[in-house]
Amino acid sequence: MNAYDRVLRQLRAAGRLGVTQVQFLEPVCDGGEPILRVAPRVCDLRADGYPITGDGTAANPYVLQGARRTPPTPKVPDPDGACDKCGAPVIWVDVGGERVPCAPLPVLSVAIGLIARNPTTGGGRQIITEDLMSVPGWLQAGAVLHRSHLTTCPMSSAHAAHARDTADRPGQASLL
Ligand SMILES: [Zn+2]
Repeated sequence: MNAYDRVLRQLRAAGRLGVTQVQFLEPVCDGGEPILRVAPRVCDLRADGYPITGDGTAANPYVLQGARRTPPTPKVPDPDGACDKCGAPVIWVDVGGERVPCAPLPVLSVAIGLIARNPTTGGGRQIITEDLMSVPGWLQAGAVLHRSHLTTCPMSSAHAAHARDTADRPGQASLL
């Protein structure tokens, strides 16, 4: 059992009493080798979703506050169409009444221009600067980020021409 697992086991056993660095020095609480640096192990555990408070001192021991919180991994939606230019599988997202083809694979980092899709309704919104503060809340509520296929399509010039042809205001340059 490595130091990570031993610290986790002690945290679980201690409950609200918590665990301190000193407990992992001689005499070691679990009878194993001393763990000279518990803090980095706690840091790893926190990064893995274990809610641990405290700093490992007697006054403020490490306390495991509950079950591990695993961030939900977004499910890759089945493609419901194909790009009519290059044939790539896409999902169609209703963005303000316009159907936008998107790559089905979810994007995990937030960026301007991505489409935030509501998997329940199939609708979505293209992220603008003003949205950036709100996006974490949307993701918490189940939204999934996708990249518009229009930006990655190898036939994108054809897409741009198509967009120009069908623009609401002919004569205006397409933003694509
Ligand atoms: Zn395409």
